Amino acid sequence: MARTLVVATRNRKKFEEMVALLRGTPVRLKSLDDFAPVEPVAETGDTFEANARMKALGYARATGEWALADDSGLEIDALGGKPGVRSSRWGGEEGNDRLNNETLVRALAGIPEDARTARYRCVMVLATPDEVLAVTEGACEGRLVDRPAGSNGFGYDPYFRLPEHGCTMAQLAPEVKNGLSHRARALAAMKKRLEKLL
Ligand code: IMP
Repeated sequence: MARTLVVATRNRKKFEEMVALLRGTPVRLKSLDDFAPVEPVAETGDTFEANARMKALGYARATGEWALADDSGLEIDALGGKPGVRSSRWGGEEGNDRLNNETLVRALAGIPEDARTARYRCVMVLATPDEVLAVTEGACEGRLVDRPAGSNGFGYDPYFRLPEHGCTMAQLAPEVKNGLSHRARALAAMKKRLEKLL
């Protein structure tokens, strides 16, 4: 029988992205919404990996199933990797993309244009209620711009330019983003680990 795997997110888009990318793997994917309400796991770590480990173990314990969790964010080289684990609340309010992007534009004013390199990073963790089974990582390199372009994606995407595509992440069709994103890369590596474990 296929193993049940809980995807530790309430974000429907992320869940569907995971379903598409794990197609062909013998797992039955469930989202947190398929379970009785569980206490949210606090993301208090200071690295993506620490947060992803907390979420994977926490939700595996809460549901009694294997769980897959990710944590991701933006790392700006000229700022020593900021905002990093604080990406979703850089502007002071959790999940407020407008405030986060205003903070980004202010920060860019102090960085010369040729030094605006950055990457999105994602760490993905698979855990049972007892232990972490696998940790994988994916990154996507880009350059930040101070004029937004595009309306797809979310978060910092309108300001994140992919030089080899000649456009921002927000100008890419979702299926193109899902082929090259940090999350897609971390998940592709996780799929290989999962196939070996099952
Ligand atoms: P989370 O891992 O989904 O909690 O993402 C953390 C934060 O990182 C988000 O709220 C965004 O600010 C940023 N982020 C992560 N992935 C992306 C992406 O693909 N595009 C734009 N912003 C992202």
